[in-house]
Amino acid sequence: MGISRYAYKGKRRFNISSFDAADTGDFKSRDQAVDQFVENLLVINKKQQKLYSERKEGVIFVFQAMDAAGKDGVIRTVFSTLSPHGVKEFCFKVPSAEEKSHDFLWRFWSALPARGFISIFNRSYYEDVLVGKVHAFYKNDIVPDRVKESDVIESRYRQIKDFERYLYETGTRVVKIFLNVSKDEQARRFISRIDVQRKNWKVSSGDLREREYWDDYMEAFESMINETSTKESPWYVVPADHKWYARYLVSEIVRKTLEEIDPQYPPLDKDTEKALQEYRQTLIDSLGEKGYQEQEKQPREFSDPSLIPAEMLQQELLDKQDESNERMKRNGFKNVRKLLASNYIIRSLGDIMDAVAAPSEEEDEIPAPEEEGENEETRNTSEIREHIKEIAEENEKETKDA
Ligand code: ATP
Ligand code: MG
Repeated sequence: MGISRYAYKGKRRFNISSFDAADTGDFKSRDQAVDQFVENLLVINKKQQKLYSERKEGVIFVFQAMDAAGKDGVIRTVFSTLSPHGVKEFCFKVPSAEEKSHDFLWRFWSALPARGFISIFNRSYYEDVLVGKVHAFYKNDIVPDRVKESDVIESRYRQIKDFERYLYETGTRVVKIFLNVSKDEQARRFISRIDVQRKNWKVSSGDLREREYWDDYMEAFESMINETSTKESPWYVVPADHKWYARYLVSEIVRKTLEEIDPQYPPLDKDTEKALQEYRQTLIDSLGEKGYQEQEKQPREFSDPSLIPAEMLQQELLDKQDESNERMKRNGFKNVRKLLASNYIIRSLGDIMDAVAAPSEEEDEIPAPEEEGENEETRNTSEIREHIKEIAEENEKETKDA
């Protein structure tokens, strides 16, 4: 399903009052999104490896939202299959005294991704046209006379656009995601955070205070999106009342962004290839009489050292599968999951389960079909299995070619 209906690229106006935060697109339940979500993670994983190897373009995914909209969960689940060396998350909080003594974009320069890297901005400079606008913090700034208070927010929109344009033109894409939760759903999530002890740490009185400015925030979000959406750095407004749908949609956005970049493993030039062959021969000669036998292909799970801990985790989870996997069975996800695990593609199955398969206590459930028989288990999985097989084979081929 297309994500274009959630995209703002500078032409279409965003109207927050007519946006349905409980929208689930073409899906009626979480179960229907599972296969596509998993496939997206697979593609994202593969594309990120290429992005990292190519070292040509950097990407920033910016996340903005009201409290309890699910930013952290989205980030944890959608980026969970990525190789940690290519991704960094930055959480931007209230600026420090030092940060405040600089221009508002200053603290973001050091978080920009190098080529081939992905930076996740968990909040960003957009706070300066959100919380900064709602509470008019700029009034406390000591600035030269030429800076007019009445122009500050308008100027920031332009400065942000210039900044993002500069980044785009110099090799870094910025993709912005607003997780749009409704006021009622936020209330439910706050209540749950108060009721459930293990979630208590997430509640702060500040969150409740900000809720009182809800309408001002909505106005600020709407203007921000209308003023800073561009073709190169689009905004996506993601309905966030259903966590599974938000996570699925973000996986679509990340996938599409990486597909647009279309990174490729860098080819060796002829001279380097020739030099490598010569070097190989020198190495073989150095072994003398001991000679060199083509090594047997190592078992796949140990072929990439960086994956070993992840695979151990998978094994552990798979071992526990029989006892704890009833839910997965219901969701027709088990076969896909096994397949992914056997190909050592998914790093944290727990996260995937959390993301799409496990019902969350925090959100309104869309009722699932009452009883699902054995056949349900394999429902919808054959197609994705074919696809995953293709990806696995392609991977295999690339490993051989490499
Ligand atoms: P969580 O609550 O899930 O831990 P969070 O992102 O809400 O994550 P908090 O420490 O609760 O983290 O909140 C960070 C706070 O910092 C937010 O209230 C945000 O508005 C504020 N903040 C971020 N940037 C700025 C800024 N430039 N000026 C003022 N406040 C800012
Ligand atoms: Mg918070």
